[in-house]
Amino acid sequence: MITLIKNAEVYSPDHLGQQDILVAGERIVRIAPSISLTGPDVTVIDGSGLVATPGFVDSLVHIIGGGGEGGFRTRTPELDFADAALAGVTTLIGVLGTDAVTRTLTNLLAKAHALTEEGLSCYCHTGSYHIPVRTLFPTLQEDLILVEKFIGVGEVAIADHRSSQPTLNELKKLAAEARVGGMLSGKGGIVSVHVGDSPEGLSLIEKLVEESDIPITQFLPTHINRNRRLFITALDYARHGGYIDFTTSTTPELLAQGEVKCSRGLKEALDAGVPVSQITFSSDANASLPQFDANGQFVGLGVGRIGSLLAEVRDAVQQDGVALESALCVVTRNPARAVKLGQKGELSAGKDADLVLLDSALKVHSVWARGRQLVAEHRLVAKPMMTH
Ligand code: ZN
Repeated sequence: MITLIKNAEVYSPDHLGQQDILVAGERIVRIAPSISLTGPDVTVIDGSGLVATPGFVDSLVHIIGGGGEGGFRTRTPELDFADAALAGVTTLIGVLGTDAVTRTLTNLLAKAHALTEEGLSCYCHTGSYHIPVRTLFPTLQEDLILVEKFIGVGEVAIADHRSSQPTLNELKKLAAEARVGGMLSGKGGIVSVHVGDSPEGLSLIEKLVEESDIPITQFLPTHINRNRRLFITALDYARHGGYIDFTTSTTPELLAQGEVKCSRGLKEALDAGVPVSQITFSSDANASLPQFDANGQFVGLGVGRIGSLLAEVRDAVQQDGVALESALCVVTRNPARAVKLGQKGELSAGKDADLVLLDSALKVHSVWARGRQLVAEHRLVAKPMMTH
């Protein structure tokens, strides 16, 4: 299968100008100003007026659903393949959450395989909020080494009333084991950290990095935009070389209560001198989001949406004046680097052919995942196995 995309405005995510992109099988073969190739097996796509960018890498998705914190009926549904494809997300990392009793790692792995069979690249973290982590094999190292889809651990919770209140030593041991497991399996072995609303914020990770030789990049703390206090600390953490992850799924009520909107937060972080390379966005899709009426009364739950990832990139560019190149970095190259997926997040020869074309309004026009077209002219063309 050979695809030639002509005359697209390419953001690798670096801005490369107008280029042609040649895809053969599952890989990008060449990006150059003018590539000519014809033949019965070559599909030529006119990319004029469209932006070509790497398929988005979403480092935190509750692929089998999450929530449940308000009783069984608050458990959220699993992610739909079509939603991910239409949102331009071609690589995702599935996680459990608060609930690791009725949600299981085996179910998580099965769903990751299903999404991969549909054409996406889906990986998982072993463990859940809880420390000590519950793993599939007796140890975390074994999970990372023996299960291909496990690339890290988490999201483990800190600074949250729903966490297991881990001590510094517990987190240190977990990070050390993840690191060694990652080294032995040639994976990132990163620790995805859910940071809650408690005032201690990132201090546990900061102390750990200070006291040990575990590098700060072993961690990917998420939800750092959940309140302004945490956001400000996170800027400092990022200036010291750490990655910080913003959660794009939100509600008007959460924003009114002080959550920092991602698009605005990205602009503020860049203005505050944080290198863009340290910032990532993730959708937290299919997590539960509490909803309130005009009087602040709890009325029910919404569900985090994977489409929020691009929506915040769009707002960053269109409303907050962030350069498109920088805004795209936080959903492509940066998360791929943070979780150490070397084949993902960049358009260049030899990388996986995960590719999105955006229209002039920065909406998803077309999507390819590992060389296969999933979306064409705003419509899903890959037929999922399950329709409903
Ligand atoms: Zn979380």
